[in-house]
Amino acid sequence: MRVSKRRFVQALGAVAATATLASGGARARGMRRRCDLLIIGAGTAGLPAAIFAAQRGARVVVVDAAAQIGGTLLLSSGQMSAAGTRLQREKGIADSPQEHFDDLMRISRGTIDPVIARLAVDHAAPTFDWLMDQGYQVLPDYPVDGVAHEPYSKPRYYWSERRGLAVLDAMRPAFSRAVARGRIELHLEHRAVALRLDASGAASGVVVEDSGGKRSELQAQNVLIASGGYASNAALFEKLSGVPKFLDHSYPLAQGDGLALAESAGGYVRGAEKYLTNFGVILASDDVPTSQLARANFYPQRRQPWEIYVNAEAQRFVREDVPSVDAREQALRFQPVMRHWVVFDQSVVEQAPPLIEDWTTQDMLDAFESRLPCFYRAGSIEALAQAAGLPERALAATLEAYNYGVHTGNDFLGRRHLPCKLVKPPFYAIRHQGTSITSTAGVAVNERLQVVRRDGSAVPNLYAAGEILGSGATQGQAFCGGMMVTPAITFGRLLGQQLIRFS
Ligand SMILES: Cc1cc2nc3c(=O)[nH]c(=O)nc-3n(C[C@H](O)[C@H](O)[C@H](O)COP(=O)(O)OP(=O)(O)OC[C@H]3O[C@@H](n4cnc5c(N)ncnc54)[C@H](O)[C@@H]3O)c2cc1C
Repeated sequence: MRVSKRRFVQALGAVAATATLASGGARARGMRRRCDLLIIGAGTAGLPAAIFAAQRGARVVVVDAAAQIGGTLLLSSGQMSAAGTRLQREKGIADSPQEHFDDLMRISRGTIDPVIARLAVDHAAPTFDWLMDQGYQVLPDYPVDGVAHEPYSKPRYYWSERRGLAVLDAMRPAFSRAVARGRIELHLEHRAVALRLDASGAASGVVVEDSGGKRSELQAQNVLIASGGYASNAALFEKLSGVPKFLDHSYPLAQGDGLALAESAGGYVRGAEKYLTNFGVILASDDVPTSQLARANFYPQRRQPWEIYVNAEAQRFVREDVPSVDAREQALRFQPVMRHWVVFDQSVVEQAPPLIEDWTTQDMLDAFESRLPCFYRAGSIEALAQAAGLPERALAATLEAYNYGVHTGNDFLGRRHLPCKLVKPPFYAIRHQGTSITSTAGVAVNERLQVVRRDGSAVPNLYAAGEILGSGATQGQAFCGGMMVTPAITFGRLLGQQLIRFS
């Protein structure tokens, strides 16, 4: 789940276009005081919830703190997964929600929330078919079984050239039509700051604050919190994940407001222990959060490793050519600060294909020459260790042990690709930081997506969908392809279509 600078700039262009369209229409009509459904967040989950609830004739109000609709879809890679879709049938792929569920259990080692993940996969195919009906364009040759994450057993993984924006493009017309017809009332730049409960403890409204700081109260028969996660709230991220928020690639308004709102009604947050990072990126600076400068190509399917990976103790901790991306990520999980150094020598520079994605070998050498943060080069192993902040003797011993394995053809970690000893100075190290740009923990809900208290009872009239439920609910302690965007849209659709009962 990586967004390049080019894509990010494209996304911002779309933001401006959306903002002009949406805010004008909403402001002209003023605020409806009581509605059937008040949705906090016009993003991945909020938009379909509004569209489908409005189709049922409900009076819907949507508030969003941002100046535009779309939320994280403006940045997201937008990869989706769904089993039993029309597209799969057209391509002769026999698949089922049960097989999708079994794969999630396998990949996550049973750490998904079975109730929530089951709800997601059972209803994913109609969601995806609906998006296709709305004009969503899948890349040719898709679905596939996996790209950046652990592969599924069947091709059920979909992606579009325009990534998350393609999902937004597909949902925008139906949403805009409903706004234009007055079926949905949209208030941009209105941040939900408090939840109102009636005497019985049921949700009954929301206090919103506009960009000028003016507060108003909106009453609602039902409230859906679809305000996303907390991945841009560095303090909350560190509190829940136990490590700093290194990378700043999350949606800026993912501040965790919804978690606090749900907690104020008696709900609680669960799943923080499922935190996991990718296998590491090269950070642009040591001041965190920061942006991603680049990342090495860690996929042996695309480039076999010529280097070794060591942790802060200068120990190898994973067989570098292990085919499973999940195996690498799980190994990194147990290393200090989920960080590692890619170490190599001059012979690798001379012989190996480029290490860093989208960079030539010369680009990489320029980074060492410019002494960019994370890039270290030295004439001896000891000097390299000093420069990179690694223990000298341990790094020398690790390289000696690796070179012995290359010599004998018998690596002690079982690595098979052993192209050359690492003995020729200068020596190089590139520091990689494991990062996550999504929220692992989330608000506890039941099978109807009602916010629940610790005793399991539901807070009446209060629902939650999207990343506010935490990635751990649908992915567990693993990265399961497409298992955030698709569940967010699916849950929004289900809530609008059937789960919320309007009197
Ligand atoms: C770079 C990146 C790439 C990703 N790639 C993938 C991928 O390929 N596949 C995948 O499955 N997942 C991916 N994800 C995760 C996925 O995109 C998100 O989990 C999902 O889009 C979140 O949907 P949501 O509806 O919960 O939140 P959002 O879509 O972010 O919507 C929340 C909305 O609520 C608004 N809001 C926030 N607080 C308030 C408040 N107090 N009051 C009013 N409004 C508020 C926000 O402005 C926003 O519009 C990626 C995430 C990132 C950051």
